[in-house]
Amino acid sequence: MADVLKKVPVREQAPKVRAANFEEVCLGYNKEEAMEEAARCINCKNAKCVGGCPVSINIPAFIHEVKEGNIEEAYKIISESSALPAICGRVCPQESQCEGKCIRGIKGEPVSIGKLERFVADWARENGIKPPAPAAANGRKVAVIGSGPAGLTCAGDLAKLGYDVTIFEALHEPGGVLVYGIPEFRLPKNKVVAAEVENVKSLGVKIETNVIIGKSTTIDELLNDEGFEAVFIGSGAGLPMFMGIPGENANGVFSANEYLTRNNLMKAFLDDYDTPIARGKKVAVVGGGNVAMDAARTALRLGAEVHIVYRRSEAELPARVEEVHHAKEEGVIMDLLTNPVEILVDENDAVKGMKCVRMELGEPDASGRRRPVEIPGSEFEMELDTVIMSLGTSPNPLISSTTIGLDINKRKCIIADEETGKTSKEGVYAGGDAVTGAATVILAMGAGKAAAKGIHEFLSDKK
Ligand SMILES: Cc1cc2nc3c(=O)[nH]c(=O)nc-3n(C[C@H](O)[C@H](O)[C@H](O)COP(=O)(O)OP(=O)(O)OC[C@H]3O[C@@H](n4cnc5c(N)ncnc54)[C@H](O)[C@@H]3O)c2cc1C
Ligand code: SF4
Repeated sequence: MADVLKKVPVREQAPKVRAANFEEVCLGYNKEEAMEEAARCINCKNAKCVGGCPVSINIPAFIHEVKEGNIEEAYKIISESSALPAICGRVCPQESQCEGKCIRGIKGEPVSIGKLERFVADWARENGIKPPAPAAANGRKVAVIGSGPAGLTCAGDLAKLGYDVTIFEALHEPGGVLVYGIPEFRLPKNKVVAAEVENVKSLGVKIETNVIIGKSTTIDELLNDEGFEAVFIGSGAGLPMFMGIPGENANGVFSANEYLTRNNLMKAFLDDYDTPIARGKKVAVVGGGNVAMDAARTALRLGAEVHIVYRRSEAELPARVEEVHHAKEEGVIMDLLTNPVEILVDENDAVKGMKCVRMELGEPDASGRRRPVEIPGSEFEMELDTVIMSLGTSPNPLISSTTIGLDINKRKCIIADEETGKTSKEGVYAGGDAVTGAATVILAMGAGKAAAKGIHEFLSDKK
């Protein structure tokens, strides 16, 4: 008899095996495992888990259907609230959302809501189940900028209401961070992301790739000349930050964005693709977030010895606990309480190492985390051939600087109302990382959903 206080374990590739391939680490539940895990849910009347989900999926209802073996019914319930369940089931930080609120978590482990969602979405895809058909077309045009989770969700919701929606995407493939950032071994691109994008297209959404708003055309042109009655901006926060230390322009220093884009979007890890990538032997990734873990685990799979260099201690690492655990299991070395002060460069202007200082934790700073303080005289050098900077990103100012009357804050984020997505410019809505700065997939989806509602109300009043 299984222990009801514990989650049904999920099958994973063994650490040694997966450290040498780009296949998905987590293999997911099969139907028997999913039904067994679903039976742990006590179908709470006032289900706290729903309040923890930014798009309010009816979690007890879908889990009940899984328990009964009615997976198609479960998929319909999830589809009412979420356009990208196979993605969210894989990458959402459930521990701080739905599962963090689950009543089962008080005495034992919470119900494995994310893995159940993933199972249902994968099952639906494998069995050719599509989301429900949209409403009759109303002929009114809305433009969406960016095809990340915010844009896809907003577009999908508007299409369901009958709007004629076109997404404009700067890159050659839709998906935003889902295709260029999050690696294949956490989120398979063809199997999962492309299939969910197809589901959004099946609602009638058109996607025009290779269109950079702010260069190819502008928001004002879309509104004034192209017949769009409203615009949603979901352009993300893709501009990387650097440290500003000596040697940072040397060959062999990458932003995590560039490194991951080469590998994920341009498939540099596959021999039959043209884009090259530096297959370093000894790589340091500077930073401690999810992006740093992704870059480190990617470099490891390309054959390198990889160090995470982070100025605080393990307790302050901003990455998800599961990601840190996976990275360590695979052999990523953690150099904590360590801060780079200079990139060391050889006569060919290539990286040969990094000078660092040891840190200790002082008093808490404004963020509530203990502030790292340099230990005097603790400088040392690491020998390296590649450095990947993963210090965070901010929104690209291209759109805000080319749109008349669109207000931004001092972090270059677009100012938008949380409930409706409304910006300072009439008819223009925004959401996701472009508004919040780098955040999560599900928050971007929640913002896309709120803005679709905001746009619908605006256009219904305008009639
Ligand atoms: C490496 C990495 C790992 C992550 N891991 C996780 C995770 O595990 N879980 C999680 O919840 N979140 C994770 N995140 C964060 C999450 O991916 C983002 O919060 C989310 O993708 C934001 O969605 P978005 O739609 O706002 O923007 P994005 O996904 O950034 O999409 C914006 C899109 O707009 C396009 N665009 C930008 N400017 C223009 C323009 N001028 N014209 C036309 N198109 C434009 C971009 O090309 C892009 O496709 C991760 C992020 C990264 C970088
Ligand atoms: S809180 Fe947990 S046990 Fe209760 S309905 Fe939600 S998933 Fe089930």
